[in-house]
Amino acid sequence: MNVAVWLERAGKGFGDRPAVGEGTRVVLDYAALAQRAARLAGALCNDLGLKPGDRVAVVAKNSPDYVTLLHAIWHAGLAAVPANAKLHGAELGYILEHSGARVCFASAGLDDAISPHAPKSLERLIRIGGKDHGALLKADAVAVTQCDADALAWLFYTSGTTGKPKGAMLTHRSLKEATYAYAADVDPVAPGDAILHAAPMSHGSGLYIMAHVALGGVNVVPESGSFEPEEIFGLFHHWNNASMFAAPTMIKRLVDSDADCDPSRVRTLIWGGAPMYVEDALKALDRFGPRLAQIYGQGESPMTITTLPKADIARRDHPRWRERLGSVGRAYSCVDVIVADSEGRPLPPGEAGEILVRGDVLMAGYWNNPDATAASLKDGWLWTGDVGSFDDDGYLTLKDRSKDVIISGGSNIYPREVEEVLLEHGGVREVSVIGRPDGEWGEVVVAYVVGEAAPGELDALCLSKIARFKRPKDYVFIDALPKNNYGKILKTELRQRDAGRAEGGR
Ligand code: AMP
Repeated sequence: MNVAVWLERAGKGFGDRPAVGEGTRVVLDYAALAQRAARLAGALCNDLGLKPGDRVAVVAKNSPDYVTLLHAIWHAGLAAVPANAKLHGAELGYILEHSGARVCFASAGLDDAISPHAPKSLERLIRIGGKDHGALLKADAVAVTQCDADALAWLFYTSGTTGKPKGAMLTHRSLKEATYAYAADVDPVAPGDAILHAAPMSHGSGLYIMAHVALGGVNVVPESGSFEPEEIFGLFHHWNNASMFAAPTMIKRLVDSDADCDPSRVRTLIWGGAPMYVEDALKALDRFGPRLAQIYGQGESPMTITTLPKADIARRDHPRWRERLGSVGRAYSCVDVIVADSEGRPLPPGEAGEILVRGDVLMAGYWNNPDATAASLKDGWLWTGDVGSFDDDGYLTLKDRSKDVIISGGSNIYPREVEEVLLEHGGVREVSVIGRPDGEWGEVVVAYVVGEAAPGELDALCLSKIARFKRPKDYVFIDALPKNNYGKILKTELRQRDAGRAEGGR
């Protein structure tokens, strides 16, 4: 099954219902959206001569066109390559070359940034909203191309916190499963319910477009093009039953904002993609009430490994409530999740090991990268590279990426645990803990802190909560932590800077 049929059906079943919004405006109803996608699909096949399986890149800021473009690409039996619009032209050039995209749709300005880096394989670079794009939208509509569930639908380039991004091959089956999983385990959708796309549609937020199309919801893009809490609250007030996916840093900005928000207008605020510290989750819960959910996933198992549902986050009277707030929840209903030793043998609750996932939602492998595929997909299991442990109730707590674990004097130290403690200090706004190579201990713990706090106070806090050997040996105060375009903290860069400091002498 081709996931594009959801829009074709919505065009008939929900024809006069709003499909896509920008700001507070309805841009397209379902009849118009379905028609637009079918015409553009006709242009991709007939005018541009693309063949099933060909890749079409989308390099765009969030916009109503994103929804049409993705559906037109699938409708024509092609694979979408959504790339992060905040990347540098050279990085985009890499993705275009690596994916072998024949056509790229780019927002105004981004096309200019790509031009000097466009690979030979790219036949057309089309400005979204430009003349050529307009002409393509006038083509004759075609029927949805039939395709197998194994056909490539989305080349999901990982955010690349280390090395070059890899393209996780998401099939129509993966997208279907991710969509069902969202509706079943995170956030049921009814016709007319909205989703606000403030986080990049090239990544997690984009994966929630389909559930809202299949079920007649409204995909809404903020008008400002940036993340402004005041605008977001206005959109919650305007649209019916709206949800939003956001990185923890965005949730934090909403919580800290002085703008008015009536929480009862919010259906669900879903966070994921990076750790949310317990202190921040508590503040969010105070501000938004029982409307917060968490997901844990990665491009390779798109947004779908575990989820901490609204009911668990809000259940203050449960004896393990606070503990659960620090977890990433339970396995989604469509996957097996285990914590395993280095041989892939399941470990009992309480023991930490690598998190492995199995299910139809998984990527088919990495595009043109058999070595990376063999290293991460073994016997049907995805080796996530994340370390965690289950409790007796099946709640998974993420420790850290395996490469971020600090080994000091032979003991494993999980930075997250130390970070959670340091964040309890009122003066610490953000913190990242890394290991610094050390002749005596192998590595020592170093905390990079944004905020103001006396090291002695931080030491005392650590000594009151965690084992002495986990306490940072050095606190480095900085203005901001290095982050990638999705707001993930770049520990690799922090370690490099730290090495520079060590060499330069302090
Ligand atoms: P990406 O594929 O770029 O979305 O990155 C996925 C990685 O982000 C995962 O492997 C985790 O390390 C991290 N991640 C995703 N969701 C969460 C979460 N809810 N809490 C903590 N880390 C997360």
